[in-house]
Amino acid sequence: MISSFPFEIADGLYVLGNKHFFTFLAIGETHALIELGVSATAPLVVTQMAVLGIEPEKVGYLVVPHAHFDHLGGLPYYQAFFPQARVVCSDRARKTMSNPRVLEQFFKEDDVTSAWLEETGKGRRIYSWLPGAALEAEMIVGDGDVLALGQNNTLKFIAASGHSPCSLAVYLPERETLLVSDSLGFFLGPEENFPLFFYNYDTYLETILRLSRVGAVIVAAAHELIFTEEDATGCFNVAEEAARKLYRYIYAFQGNREELMAELYHRYYHNGLRVYSPQNIKACVELLVRRVKDSGQASTG
Ligand SMILES: [Zn+2]
Repeated sequence: MISSFPFEIADGLYVLGNKHFFTFLAIGETHALIELGVSATAPLVVTQMAVLGIEPEKVGYLVVPHAHFDHLGGLPYYQAFFPQARVVCSDRARKTMSNPRVLEQFFKEDDVTSAWLEETGKGRRIYSWLPGAALEAEMIVGDGDVLALGQNNTLKFIAASGHSPCSLAVYLPERETLLVSDSLGFFLGPEENFPLFFYNYDTYLETILRLSRVGAVIVAAAHELIFTEEDATGCFNVAEEAARKLYRYIYAFQGNREELMAELYHRYYHNGLRVYSPQNIKACVELLVRRVKDSGQASTG
């Protein structure tokens, strides 16, 4: 259902950015930007907002659903454009964002991805983060917290650890729309999913189950795909099955660790994942293998 950007998925809820990095704009008396992509998508989003006729001074919230580089990279740029806006995230995300050494790694990855986006004409490589600077959060939210934007638009936060301990999903009850961030993994296609249980495998599955029970009619990942109608229930099954299958595969793998890493890297590193560096995807694969070894019970898979 992805047309040209920006587009409206529900009344007063727009998708901006590009297909690799969605940024959601929820319209109220005060507006919220949810998912802040990478630095290269931020100028694009600001231009798209101008096309939509959005008044910049009405942007009151910049929501970081979880503190990974490709979900907060646009933040310094947005803070310059919307100085009145408050940064909203979980307490765990706040801690990560206050650590300049972590941010240095994040913005290195951001730069590789942003360069790729610029080369392919999908964004503009910019340097918006000042090395050494922390990214400060002004509003800490957790499971069940509600943020009313006015004009019958509300953000409800749902704890969604599993991908990362700092992860939140954002539900817009009036729009019956659930923004899952990376909690359902990365969809390489509607039926093909790269599981992202970076924090804990069992928690990741529990999160998928919990989010499936919200009953959303629109489910939007942070990258590539937005699910509607029967796909809005099916996407949870796809994510769960992909995670279980990968768990069993890693658990039962007979070769050595290097062979396993190479096999998984080649299996997943295509389509939309190409926007990330090979080193990044190798690190992701390594983390997944480690989480299976941590979990270590065949029965769980
Ligand atoms: Zn992530």
